Amino acid sequence: MNLIIMGPPGAGKGTQAEMLVKEFKIPHISTGDMFREAIKEGTELGMKAKTFMDGGQLVPDSVTIGIVRERLAAEDCVRGFLLDGFPRTVPQADALEQIIAGLERSLDAAINIEVADEILMARMVGRRICRQCGAPYNIEFNPPQEAGKCDQCGGELYQRSDDTEATVANRLAVYIQQTEPLLTYYQEQGLLIRINGNQEVTKVFGDICSSLR
Ligand code: ADP
Ligand code: ADP
Ligand code: ZN
Repeated sequence: MNLIIMGPPGAGKGTQAEMLVKEFKIPHISTGDMFREAIKEGTELGMKAKTFMDGGQLVPDSVTIGIVRERLAAEDCVRGFLLDGFPRTVPQADALEQIIAGLERSLDAAINIEVADEILMARMVGRRICRQCGAPYNIEFNPPQEAGKCDQCGGELYQRSDDTEATVANRLAVYIQQTEPLLTYYQEQGLLIRINGNQEVTKVFGDICSSLR
């Protein structure tokens, strides 16, 4: 399976991606996670990405496309992949098409998780993620078994520095302007799967799995 998962910030891409990669045994490739990892490690990539992320802007295409090209060439992607948060612009989608064609493969589906705007803000402001493995939680909608601690690896949960009301508003505007046009792009290719994300996590997952079959 060669999949991409899309949707506005806070739609539940990361949450669903975690479950999908277990189901289909493919790697989860999240550009946001890759940038946060680079920032944590203080690499040059991290320094480049940080200012954009903190402002709720997209990291430039030239940087983002490069890391995805490299990642998709890795050994563990031979049986497929799930891209989460990439592509986010039309140039990124065009580049992805070329990268995948170069690997003599093709996309199977573009899953779009649809969630009402007024819900997104609450999801993001309540989001906490694991410092160790990146798993997402929500203090209101999806709390961990033990407060502040990851169910899967015991890591410490923290709040992303870009999950503040002001930055979230920016990210939603950027999404509408730069990423939403991709829905038509994938619809025209017959690859778009639209999923109602205003449901419980397990119900959303069930809907995705049945539409992939
Ligand atoms: P994205 O990767 O699209 O930004 P996340 O998967 O990180 O989204 O989810 C955003 C927040 O909403 C997290 O706090 C997560 O726990 C919560 N969440 C995800 N899916 C649902 C859902 N179906 N219902 C309620 N809360 C959800
Ligand atoms: P969310 O889905 O909640 O917005 P992500 O973790 O996917 O969160 O992205 C966080 C930030 O990382 C984005 O606001 C953006 O600055 C940067 N980023 C992630 N993916 C991309 C991408 N494909 N292109 C440009 N910037 C990206
Ligand atoms: Zn963890």
